[in-house]
Amino acid sequence: MQQIQQGQFAAGQRLALRERRPQGTRVALPGVELGGRSFVVMAGPCAVESAAQIEAAAAAVAREGCAVLRGGAFKPRTSPYAFQGLGAPGVQLLLDAARRHGLAAVTEVMDAAELPAFDGVALLQVGARNMQNFTLLKALSHLRRPVLLKRGPSATVDEWLLAAEYLLAGGNDQVVLCERGIRTFETATRNTLDLSAVVLAKQRTHLPVVVDPSHATGRRELVTPLTLAAAAAGADGLLVEVHASPDEALCDGAQALLPEDLADLMARLPAVLEAVGRDLWRATPRRRALAR
Ligand code: PEP
Ligand code: MN
Repeated sequence: MQQIQQGQFAAGQRLALRERRPQGTRVALPGVELGGRSFVVMAGPCAVESAAQIEAAAAAVAREGCAVLRGGAFKPRTSPYAFQGLGAPGVQLLLDAARRHGLAAVTEVMDAAELPAFDGVALLQVGARNMQNFTLLKALSHLRRPVLLKRGPSATVDEWLLAAEYLLAGGNDQVVLCERGIRTFETATRNTLDLSAVVLAKQRTHLPVVVDPSHATGRRELVTPLTLAAAAAGADGLLVEVHASPDEALCDGAQALLPEDLADLMARLPAVLEAVGRDLWRATPRRRALAR
């Protein structure tokens, strides 16, 4: 407690503190805004694998009225022998599919030197493993582009918020925080979703906070219940993995929702959101046109 008071939220110079901007920060992407009244769903495969695979995912994501297509092209894999992603051509496939369906795109950037490949990407993702890559954070802090900052698997809330501070300190306040599960003693799930961190981050900062229940659990059957819990707890949105044929996925198939699971999730979210004074962002033709 002592440590929290000293290090964490008392430091007056911190730019991310809620009192700096009590009304909250809204992060605008083409056609959609994070941090407003509406809960925003960002969905798609773990990785872009092929043109056909990302097209099938984009079609499903658009059909359910989601705002943003996800899909990694530069993949931070634990094993060097695992699929590493398609790189720059993968970003292009993601952008092409997103454009065809009027979706904004989010994908991970691991190295600032690769930023030229990310032109047109609406939301630049800093992965959990890079949360404290301060060189990368400083480079992104000099851009005026939205950044999604994932919490590191072993990072405290304070370390996470200080990582965000690097982005703000360099002049980029277009920052979205993402809780994606932390490493605990529990082995029944891939990680442990820390919903208290979501509430804390919302209370202590003015930044939008979204939840990734896919990497938090590693298990498809837990994704929908935890999404509903996150929505009830005040999250501003969702980053979720969806794959049209998860058994064939090159990574994270076990945690990917099927398109029909996404449909079910989108049908169940509004009641929970209404109970906490929010609504679900759904596409309209006008919103789709803005994202193209
Ligand atoms: C991802 O979302 O693609 C990802 C790699 O997740 P994380 O960085 O949270 O492990
Ligand atoms: Mn994944």
